[in-house]
Amino acid sequence: MVDPEIRVVTIDDLGILRSVQEDPATGRVVVTITPTYTGCPAMDVIRADIRRALVATGHPDAEVRTVHKPAWSTDWISDAGRAKLAAAGIAPPAPARRDGVVPLTLAVRCPRCGSPETEQISRFGSTACKALWRCRSCAEPFDHVKAL
Ligand SMILES: [Zn+2]
Repeated sequence: MVDPEIRVVTIDDLGILRSVQEDPATGRVVVTITPTYTGCPAMDVIRADIRRALVATGHPDAEVRTVHKPAWSTDWISDAGRAKLAAAGIAPPAPARRDGVVPLTLAVRCPRCGSPETEQISRFGSTACKALWRCRSCAEPFDHVKAL
């Protein structure tokens, strides 16, 4: 199961998948997911993908629950997910500090040459979840997953 917008990263890497549990009363499988962004069109596809996978593994009556609290944050992207995003030319968001202080300036590094000399061209990249940035060093445009 792969985010249709970020095909190299699994929903597990993105931290969308919260849990997969069996309801002890009914024996039904309950999959809990948290959407990355409200209105992110990828979530409908992800839900459909999960449903297909559950049917394929013999759980046609499984339930896919969407929880919005706690809200998904880019912190949930795993290290493996960040590495895959970088490899795909998508700048992964900088992790927020653990003490809850959000740094005021986040250097967005160019996924191609690693230069921090970058600028945002547009708040909207190829999808609603990404912004379009450009590297001043190598002049390459790139998608950056918006940090919350
Ligand atoms: Zn560059």
